[in-house]
Amino acid sequence: MLGSLGALAATIIANLVGGLIFFWVDRFIFTSEALAAQWEVRDDIRCVDCGRVARGYRLVRAKNYDRTSDPAPEFRCEACSKKKSDELKKRGIDH
Ligand SMILES: [Zn+2]
Repeated sequence: MLGSLGALAATIIANLVGGLIFFWVDRFIFTSEALAAQWEVRDDIRCVDCGRVARGYRLVRAKNYDRTSDPAPEFRCEACSKKKSDELKKRGIDH
C-alpha cells in the first residue's frame, strides 16, 4: 500500500515537474523569439549578389530591422548572406 502510494506520489510529482519545465521552456522560447532575428530560408532562389541558384536566406526581422512586408525580398546564397550579415552588423543591426 505504502509502495503504491509512493509510486502515485512520484507520478504526480513527476507530472508537476514536467509541466513546470514545459512552462519555463515555453516562456523561454517565447521571450527569445521576441528578441532573436528571424531568417527566411527558401530553396532554389537566385542570389541577388552573385546570381547563383541555390538555397537562399534573407534576414526578415531583427531588433532594429524589419523586412516582413518587403515587396521584393532579396535572397542571398549562403556565402553572400554571410557577407551581407557582416555588413548589417557593421551598420549596427543586431542579429
Ligand atoms: Zn551569392
